[in-house]
Amino acid sequence: MCDSDRLDSILLAYGASKVDNFLDADVFILNTCSVRMQSEQKIFSYLGKIEEFKQQNSDIKIIVMGCMAERLGYDIKKRFKSVDLVVGTKDIDNGISKIIDLCCLKNSFKKINSNVKLRSKIVSHITIMKGCNNYCSYCIVPFVRGIEKSFDYNTIINKCSLVVENGVKEIILLGQNVNSYKYRNVDFSLLLKNVASIKNLERIRFLTNHPKDLNDNLIDVIAKNSKMCSHIHLPMQSASNKILQLMNRKYTYEYYSYLIKKLRFAVPDISITTDIIVGFPGETDKDFEYTLNAVKTIRFGGLYVFKYSPRPNTKAFEMSDNVSTVEKKRRHAIILEESNKISAEIVSKMVGSKHQVLVENIGNGFMEARTKSGRKVFIKINKEYCGKILNVVIKEAKVNSLFGDVID
Ligand code: SAH
Ligand code: SF4
Repeated sequence: MCDSDRLDSILLAYGASKVDNFLDADVFILNTCSVRMQSEQKIFSYLGKIEEFKQQNSDIKIIVMGCMAERLGYDIKKRFKSVDLVVGTKDIDNGISKIIDLCCLKNSFKKINSNVKLRSKIVSHITIMKGCNNYCSYCIVPFVRGIEKSFDYNTIINKCSLVVENGVKEIILLGQNVNSYKYRNVDFSLLLKNVASIKNLERIRFLTNHPKDLNDNLIDVIAKNSKMCSHIHLPMQSASNKILQLMNRKYTYEYYSYLIKKLRFAVPDISITTDIIVGFPGETDKDFEYTLNAVKTIRFGGLYVFKYSPRPNTKAFEMSDNVSTVEKKRRHAIILEESNKISAEIVSKMVGSKHQVLVENIGNGFMEARTKSGRKVFIKINKEYCGKILNVVIKEAKVNSLFGDVID
């Protein structure tokens, strides 16, 4: 997400513009993910379509970047001959220069400004670390993103200050495992405190966390600092201790629920979201039941549920993928249904309540704003609201969407 944002602002500054229609594009950039096989298959299918398009429009350029580009490298060009450039994740800065060079070869895309300015926007994503050393047994990330590296603290603070000077109101700090951030003597809670001291910055979010690294200092910063949003994404993956151990997650379900209790005690209105994998090798009906019961008990503010997908090089790749596709689909649907039911109950209870929202965007017929807990609220159009923190009262809840009126 962040590499896309960065490339976006660079290319826009170089004179490119985004197109709504596929047929109007002269450069296609696919930023890919290889975490699940399905994501890679989608990219192959896109590439097939773009390749057909290129047969009639030979001067278009096709660029593939991201994790899948890192994993498959030159094999992508072997399979799709019309791909012009493959840019992996490990040397992204050099890759971005190559993308700019390739794009600027086109007449319609002249280099107009080498002093890249950040687009003025309201929410900005800042990456604070890359890679991961956790080696969860199902996960390809350590193989395609490399070992964990926390970025220079001063560079992060400077980047955050710069975007805020350019009008940004909310910063989302990104990394595979932000709560294990450590640069010299600065850990993640200290980094958060210092980002929060930037004048004119209104809100801070961060993504994503590993339960084993969630400590009391971090909970304390979320609880006590008014710029911190009341939301945490804390992937649980499974509630069966047997499966958690096979996944190499380094915590038990009891420890995970202890963290949830601590978070809710310190920040009563916190929204906790999670990731779940169903159909991991060896997951029995009983193991699945533990996870389903945890979803019912914890009542997550939202969740992503994934069907286990074997990834090359990982430990789990050597285990027998013994839960059938049909059963994975069934478990996936059950978790999703339960989660949708809980979400609907949470949002319907919000009707009549008051919230501070940050107005992020002008949408289709409404302004899009967000509560501190991360819920989207639609309010009536008024361009002056953009980037403002407003008080709203929730008037209506529809499935997962909230509609509110501005109050003074
Ligand atoms: N670093 C993050 C997650 C990165 S991947 C973390 O640990 O929280 C995002 C999510 O994709 C994971 O949380 C996991 O639920 C899912 N995922 C990763 N590998 C997967 C695989 N092989 N099959 C299915 N889901 C997977
Ligand atoms: Fe993958 Fe685990 Fe690292 Fe997350 S913590 S990126 S799931 S290895």
